[in-house]
Amino acid sequence: MSQKENRSKQKKQERWLVYPYRLAHHPLCSKFEDHVYTIKGYKVCRGCVNLYSGFLAGLIIVPILAVFLNVNFWIAFVATNVLFIFTPLSVFLHPPRVIKDFARFLLGIAMVTCLATIILSIVELVRGFNGWALAVIFLTIAIYVTSRRYFSKLRDRKNEQVCRKCEQFYHPRCEGLVGGIDRAIALESHEKGDAFSEQ
Ligand code: SF4
Repeated sequence: MSQKENRSKQKKQERWLVYPYRLAHHPLCSKFEDHVYTIKGYKVCRGCVNLYSGFLAGLIIVPILAVFLNVNFWIAFVATNVLFIFTPLSVFLHPPRVIKDFARFLLGIAMVTCLATIILSIVELVRGFNGWALAVIFLTIAIYVTSRRYFSKLRDRKNEQVCRKCEQFYHPRCEGLVGGIDRAIALESHEKGDAFSEQ
């Protein structure tokens, strides 16, 4: 690796270290405590932990089921949407947190079945033209892209609403961002090479 590449890699790592939310996807204050797990002192996004656990489980379960049950693209498509439907239900019905966690886990499996749907549809198309397989590919991609955009925006809006109601909203260094600001100052000092960065 060249010196330039090495420097750019280091910078990326440093930026990640000072990124205020890091793996949390939420401010790190008591108002968002419910949205993070603390693992070995690091706050990580609770939703992402459950989502990726589901994704890993899906990577094991889905190929096995696909082979043993001789799954076609229709079954994969229906399974994806059945697994996905728990996400909007959990967002709009506000069930207990543990149900939301389970919905995120199912969403992780749905991401794998979504991939399986597209692969099986392509296989179907390679065997011979099938308009339904083509429609399923477009529909699957459309549902994935629109729902991802919609739910990301919704999460940002909800986070903002919590902040706007918070008594610290107008504080320049509120509890939720103070860690990020301190890390940013530390990075600046580190880049300048002053004594603070060596502490
Ligand atoms: S404004 Fe309040 S709720 Fe928002 S990040 Fe800061 S401390 Fe947390």
